[in-house]
Amino acid sequence: MENRAYKFWFATGSQDLYGDECLANVAAHSKQMVDEWNKSGNFPYEIVWKPTLIDDTSIRQTFNEANADRDCAGVITWMHTFSPAKSWIHGLLEFRKPLLHLATQFNKEIPYDTIDMDFMNENQSAHGDREYGHIVSRMGIERKVIMGHWADENLQKRMASWMRTAVGILESSHIRVARIADNMRNVAVTEGDKVEAEIKFGWEVDAWPVNEAVDYVNAVSEADIKALTDEYYDTYDILLEGRDEKEFREHVAVQAQIEIGLRRFLEEKNYQALVTHFGDLGGMKQLPGLAIQRLMQDGYGFGAEGDWKTAAMVRLMKIMTAGMKDAKGTSFMEDYTYNLIPGKDGILQAHMLEVCPTIADGNIGIKVCPLSMGDREDPARLVFTSKTGPAIATSLIDLGTRFRLIINEVECKKNDKPMPKLPVATAFWTPKPDLKTGVEAWIYAGGAHHTAFSYDLTTEQMVDWASAMGIESVVIDADTTIRNLRNEMRWNSVVY
Ligand code: MN
Repeated sequence: MENRAYKFWFATGSQDLYGDECLANVAAHSKQMVDEWNKSGNFPYEIVWKPTLIDDTSIRQTFNEANADRDCAGVITWMHTFSPAKSWIHGLLEFRKPLLHLATQFNKEIPYDTIDMDFMNENQSAHGDREYGHIVSRMGIERKVIMGHWADENLQKRMASWMRTAVGILESSHIRVARIADNMRNVAVTEGDKVEAEIKFGWEVDAWPVNEAVDYVNAVSEADIKALTDEYYDTYDILLEGRDEKEFREHVAVQAQIEIGLRRFLEEKNYQALVTHFGDLGGMKQLPGLAIQRLMQDGYGFGAEGDWKTAAMVRLMKIMTAGMKDAKGTSFMEDYTYNLIPGKDGILQAHMLEVCPTIADGNIGIKVCPLSMGDREDPARLVFTSKTGPAIATSLIDLGTRFRLIINEVECKKNDKPMPKLPVATAFWTPKPDLKTGVEAWIYAGGAHHTAFSYDLTTEQMVDWASAMGIESVVIDADTTIRNLRNEMRWNSVVY
């Protein structure tokens, strides 16, 4: 993952009605805030102080400079005093990047003993917030509003979380998906309108004959294959399970060759996500398994069976979590099998092979086993179980006339018992609010079997991203009831 070193501009709104001394204080306050924020270690990206905005000219100029600066991922606005909002109209009309309205105030407490009219005029964020908020709402501009004291760590974490959403909004239009196979025959939910996806999300989704990728695989040298196979043997537990050692290594080496070949193909052609399909492998000896798992670990998006929507979503969510301290992982995933025992109920998650090792808990092993589908040799794959804790599973579906993003909060748990005969990486989760309601809601919403899954993103971030893309989002969480959810979708159908 290589993200641009994005910066966020901090623009403070005021006016010249209260004199130069007041404006000097406004600037000093906002500089101090930016300095302390950047020192706090709570933000994934640097915040850049900008001179106080007091009129149409300065506001318009600042927003246009933000548009033009490739490193600027968004503007954080703060109304220190009252800033007449008609001054903001032209700047806002021309601004095209994520916008945060930070509703904060320099002083934390009202200085009861000393407060006079001068102090109140200088520190009237409550007043300024409403004038500015009104014009942004009236103009129907998508923005985030976050309120709290600027020095509060919880507020800073919310701002930091929004920064990741903002980078997702900006970077979405740089996602290019290589379809190294078309959609699996007869499957509905993985289909979609690629032209509309480019208009809405900025994704370029291109078809490639599988054998053009195979050419890259076949061109990999024996020395490169051996080096990467050695790396696999150093990194992972080798689980022979009765197979011949030499034959096992030959199977693993095929995945090393595919990993190197696909990586070169994607790098040369500038793709950040890919799809494969077990039924359309051309000259590939094995379905890419271990190879795909390693590419996903490095930040590539992936969707199986031609599922380009999920591939792009996995890539997007990897971008949004890039560089996160203590990240627990983001992966392509698939709902497989229910456990309906009360108290242990949930859904076993896996795929044929392609689960990202970033979500692994504990040791990762390599197995070589037959694939129950397709006609190729037994593929090598990484096997592991996944971390526990809260996470989100998302599904982007095409309803024919529009897209819907479904976000389900889930609680990941350990499998109740080992599954020695299941040769794939797994996760196990109970959807919120409970298995039955969660599954019923997911089905009513039309969610797919494939998901883009992450421990490291929140519902709020994904809802804000969907909002910025101008699409519907449907949340299934602890507050979900079936009646409300069905009504919400009825109302949404009118809105969209
Ligand atoms: Mn699948």
